[in-house]
Amino acid sequence: MSLLKVARMGHPVLRARAREIDRAELKHPSMQKLIDDMIDTMHEYHGVGLAAPQIHEGLRIFVAAIAPGDDEPLSPDAEPMVFINPVVTPAGPEIVEDWEGCLSIPDIRGRVPRVRAIRVTALDRTGGTIDVASHDFPARVIQHETDHLDGVLFFDRMRSFETLSYLEEYARYWSKDRGD
Ligand SMILES: [Zn+2]
Repeated sequence: MSLLKVARMGHPVLRARAREIDRAELKHPSMQKLIDDMIDTMHEYHGVGLAAPQIHEGLRIFVAAIAPGDDEPLSPDAEPMVFINPVVTPAGPEIVEDWEGCLSIPDIRGRVPRVRAIRVTALDRTGGTIDVASHDFPARVIQHETDHLDGVLFFDRMRSFETLSYLEEYARYWSKDRGD
């Protein structure tokens, strides 16, 4: 296992559009190792998702510890999902606002509006097709990570910065209101 260095806000790789990967390239051992290392890195830093630009690779890949059709967090021993070349389509007009954080913006939380229900198509790490519906928490993670592939950070999506909080202040003043 190799842990990868996480790019922090301000690094240009986080603002660039990442490129597509074809099936042949995906099968290459170096690409499979990169995916394994991304999963290890996500776990090490207790992330729910990690996109390739966050580890300085301009590739349309993200990993996420979610089950797309299930609002519950993935059990810790379950294998994270790997999305290659994801395409997200809104599946309804509803917008919901909730808290987000980002491994590239450490110790900061803010409330971000997102489409509540989506459909996402992608390749999995074997080159198979992913085509799933998702809503609420996992849909939020998918939208956040797909944004990374287009150089978009969650600050860009906030309606206002009033809720922008350091983790300590978030825990003290905000998280109790939500019962989590
Ligand atoms: Zn992020």
